Amino acid sequence: MTAPAAQRLADGVLAGDRRVLAQAITLVESTRADHRAQADDLLERVLARSGGALRLGVSGAPGVGKSTFIEAFGLFLTGRGRRVAVLAVDPSSQRSKGSILGDKTRMQELARAAAAFIRPSPAGGTLGGVARRTREAMLLCEAAGFDVVIVETVGVGQSETAVADMVDMFLLLLQPGAGDELQGFKRGIIELADLFVVTKADSDLAEAATRAAAQYQGALQFLRPVSPRWRPPVLRCSALTGEGIADVWAAAERYRETLQASGDLTARRAAQARAWMWSEISETVLAALRAHPEVRRQIADLEAAVTAGRTSPAAAARRLLQAFLGEAPRPLA
Ligand code: GDP
Repeated sequence: MTAPAAQRLADGVLAGDRRVLAQAITLVESTRADHRAQADDLLERVLARSGGALRLGVSGAPGVGKSTFIEAFGLFLTGRGRRVAVLAVDPSSQRSKGSILGDKTRMQELARAAAAFIRPSPAGGTLGGVARRTREAMLLCEAAGFDVVIVETVGVGQSETAVADMVDMFLLLLQPGAGDELQGFKRGIIELADLFVVTKADSDLAEAATRAAAQYQGALQFLRPVSPRWRPPVLRCSALTGEGIADVWAAAERYRETLQASGDLTARRAAQARAWMWSEISETVLAALRAHPEVRRQIADLEAAVTAGRTSPAAAARRLLQAFLGEAPRPLA
């Protein structure tokens, strides 16, 4: 792509054109080196116009009701004149297999809303790679004028941490009924949450949801909150009846106001930007190392030696780094 083409994409994104936004995201998702340079050019052109959205992470175990919630919540917001973008982080995703958000039957109504934009998780790749592309997609959505960006994650593995590291506020959805202890969530994930929402608080689950919310509230009071100014509340909602959806948004706005006033939000974003820079460095250096011809020549032998216990992992790592840096190999320890 030539510079005028990058400018065309930038202009379309800044004009809020969803089709151009989709093309721009495809470009930042590409792993080709020439596309990377173009993506960087595009991002430079729109960066000054990013940052304006409230960035919300949404997580929870499979089946808890994430997509149903996001659709109801998204429609609630578009009904109030907001523009809502939904992105996903799912390192296991392969588009053809229809993993989270890849499945076209999900969030159909929201997908049709003129003020909404839904993008499945980039297919495959490492968590680091998927997270990087999602962060960039988030900046592009902001530049396109979306004022709420929701990042959904699968609720398994490490992806919660990656998402919490890119959003302003992290919502954890919880099942009603399973209120005894925190449903086997790792403590680390509970500690990431800025807001808990018990889902499916309707019909025969309504009472269970109320009980579960009280139990969660009780269990959570012993946790140290992320910010001394914000104790994560436990809310209930039903995506089917819409009850409680407005409360979730009210809590998100209260959160934003509180943390904006104290400077915590700015500090959080600044820390995220610094961490992002370092993760870019790690990803890029690691990719370059793996692609280095001399490293590639030695890698299988050294892995075999480490596997067999003939070489220590540290010594093998040093040998590969020497190969990468073009230093003369020293004898293995
Ligand atoms: P996800 O895997 O977390 O995205 O969960 P889904 O959104 O696909 O929902 C899982 C199941 O829970 C589906 O059968 C939904 O119909 C059901 N569900 C989701 N939200 C609600 C709700 O608010 N009330 C009730 N009763 N069922 C719900």
